[in-house]
Amino acid sequence: MNLQDIQAVKELISTPQKIVIVPHKNPDGDAIGSTVALWHFLKRKQQDVVVVSPNDFPDFLKWIPGNEHILNFEKENSQAREKISAASLIFTLDFNHFSRTGQMQDFLDSATADFIMIDHHQSPSDYAKITYSDVRMSSTCEMIYNFIAYLDETDKITPEIATCLYTGIMTDTGSFKFRSTTSKTHRVVAELMDKGAQNTEIHHHIYDTNSPSRMKLLGIALNNMVLLEDYHTAYITLTQDELNSCNYKKGDTEGFVNYGLTLKGIKFAVIFIENSEEGIIKISFRSVGEFSVNQFARNHFEGGGHDNAAGGKSDLSINETVEKFTKLLENYKNDLA
Ligand code: 5GP
Ligand code: MN
Repeated sequence: MNLQDIQAVKELISTPQKIVIVPHKNPDGDAIGSTVALWHFLKRKQQDVVVVSPNDFPDFLKWIPGNEHILNFEKENSQAREKISAASLIFTLDFNHFSRTGQMQDFLDSATADFIMIDHHQSPSDYAKITYSDVRMSSTCEMIYNFIAYLDETDKITPEIATCLYTGIMTDTGSFKFRSTTSKTHRVVAELMDKGAQNTEIHHHIYDTNSPSRMKLLGIALNNMVLLEDYHTAYITLTQDELNSCNYKKGDTEGFVNYGLTLKGIKFAVIFIENSEEGIIKISFRSVGEFSVNQFARNHFEGGGHDNAAGGKSDLSINETVEKFTKLLENYKNDLA
């Protein structure tokens, strides 16, 4: 953030505002961690503040201190809409296009509030009065730490805030191992531990809450994995029937796509998940090395994200989607060699 923007933020939040904080649809650990951390921080500064999520978030995040105050735009629609239209300031975290908020898009479009964007994805749009966008950052949570530091207020980081931020950094970096993890990331994490984040406990909450039905679903997913060795690619499919047979709950497939990358020599891993309710196939893309899944998702599957982790969707059937995908790979043979 530049000095001018820091000064502008300081001024904005030095007076009472009606603030709404928004994560992207289907929020992950970084989106929930960053929004709830900022919520705690602004509450400590006596602001009138609420987090409005486009939809529900996974159970494995429902222990995060303060998560119970999040308004769900889908379920608590009129209350959420009132908050957005009355807002004087709206923070959008961990995304950079209104389209990433699904049904909320139109309401954000017509909101009269000033926007502040804090995000680490590529190609930010220009809706915000203040844009803090940096694709080199491991996570939006690391940026929220920086944001608080820019305001000279790290002394206001409580154990709750530290816990939220640690969670998002941990989940977005694959527990501190992705390329986006820098020495600075580790310094921030160390600071958060000093401020009360309990690392072992947080890890346990996120990763050790498997249910027998999720384990069974993982078995099906791994069994469905297809290797395309010529393309150093592995993909998984899960149909709605398969999900139903394992009492699928939001978040159950989190991390499944990464199994493909654990195979020796695999550079590109994909999971296709059928969602009958929305009539789409939701896709997650992961890569190691130079192959940009952000570009691939953007070019072919209405998505985007980061160079090594991105998402997208398809309106075709699951079989047609896989067919389209495998055909496309022929054009990328050199990139995946
Ligand atoms: P995931 O595969 O875990 O859902 O998402 C991986 C990354 O891609 C995340 O940073 C996420 O925000 C981004 N992403 C996921 N789905 C979409 C999408 O449909 N559009 C865009 N632009 N980004 C996405
Ligand atoms: Mn993120």
